[in-house]
Amino acid sequence: MKKIAKSQLNEFIARLMKSYAVYGPVEEEGIVSFRRLTAPEEIRLDYQNSKKPPKEAFFPQTETMFRYEMGKGRISLESTEEVEEERVLFGARPCDVRALELLDLVFDAPDYKDLYYINKREKTTIVALGCNSPLSTCFCTSFEGGPFTKEGADLFLTDIGDWYLAEALTPKGERLLDEELFQEATKADVRAAAKVEKEALAKMAPPLELDGLKEKLDTMIDSPFWDRLHEKCLGCGVCTFLCPTCHCFDIVDEALNSKGERVRNWDSCMFPIYTLEASGHNPRPSGRERWRQRLMHKFDYFVANYGRFLCVGCGRCVINCPVNLDIRKVIADVMAF
Ligand code: SF4
Ligand code: SF4
Repeated sequence: MKKIAKSQLNEFIARLMKSYAVYGPVEEEGIVSFRRLTAPEEIRLDYQNSKKPPKEAFFPQTETMFRYEMGKGRISLESTEEVEEERVLFGARPCDVRALELLDLVFDAPDYKDLYYINKREKTTIVALGCNSPLSTCFCTSFEGGPFTKEGADLFLTDIGDWYLAEALTPKGERLLDEELFQEATKADVRAAAKVEKEALAKMAPPLELDGLKEKLDTMIDSPFWDRLHEKCLGCGVCTFLCPTCHCFDIVDEALNSKGERVRNWDSCMFPIYTLEASGHNPRPSGRERWRQRLMHKFDYFVANYGRFLCVGCGRCVINCPVNLDIRKVIADVMAF
């Protein structure tokens, strides 16, 4: 186990930036989100939960898939699949790192390989940061996570005051431990980290009761349960756009004359147009079907396909829903129905 002084953090990041494209949490106009750093001082590690999750570093909101140009009798294509630089994702919270493992199941499946996503994942070393102060909306412990869950991280940092305790979990993480900046942690440092972890866990609400949730939902497709739930939903899509595990996208061609590019953009099952067919028919015509789909996908269909819930309990949909629709309460209501 190693440690680095907080006063050395900017120097560490500056050194990383010489060899890697470093992505980290930055605050702009009061909103913390992840983007590529242009200077070490931009990083902000005292955030509790970024507004937008770091999935954008792997699955951007808008991404060009290839560019094309049509000439006489031929089309030239320029792919954007490749990722040239090695990258570091710095300061991601444990729930968001676990969310990437769920996205891996979809984008890196045995029978479907999304190279845009996979190439970025393979080129990226993940430095996770434990949560000393979970929010009241955090419920990661409901999904086998926790404020200090290390699953998916290459290097894990714990804030112990003037230092970060640093635990390398993979060879990729080990490579980041610059000998000039990191020193051996003492037993007292390890004890301090254990204390921080214990205190953080004590702040969490008890985990949700999820045993039998999928089986319950299996029986509810035509249930009156869905009749009222959606009534105050505005269909704004915030709950899905800010979710670290939602991954729906649409593909469009943007062209002018003989040149163009194929672009994929995040989409949301909460939008009426999402399932609107060319005939005008919409198999999910109201919020009732759309809310049911969101719940069913996360807690029934994804479990059937991959054996895991499609939620890490980050609480973003709880915090940011403009009409306070709380997915924790919806789950509890399903269980009690
Ligand atoms: S459904 Fe809500 S709590 Fe769960 S991962 Fe998505 S935004 Fe976070
Ligand atoms: S954030 Fe709230 S209002 Fe907006 S679509 Fe989701 S549930 Fe509906």
